[in-house]
Amino acid sequence: MVCLNSKCSKDFIAKTHNQKYCSDECCRISTNKRIMEKYYEKKAIKNGAPRKCKGCSGLLSRYNDQPYCARCNKLKQSKYKKDLMGIIDDIS
Ligand SMILES: [Zn+2]
Ligand SMILES: [Zn+2]
Repeated sequence: MVCLNSKCSKDFIAKTHNQKYCSDECCRISTNKRIMEKYYEKKAIKNGAPRKCKGCSGLLSRYNDQPYCARCNKLKQSKYKKDLMGIIDDIS
């Protein structure tokens, strides 16, 4: 196994099949890094970094913390409802 900590990338022998880091220290560093990345992402959103809707690629409002704009969210919801109705129709 190669340690997933990019600063380390050391070859090591995994003691368990899901071991991804050579040491607890590397695991801790990587977890911290992930937390920081999440933190900066949230901060960027708050600062008004432009984000695009995953549905229509229109710009998202900085107050919208979802990947879709309000319109696409509504669209998705109504589609979901329709699917649900379809299922109910199939049953009855
Ligand atoms: Zn390591
Ligand atoms: Zn949209």
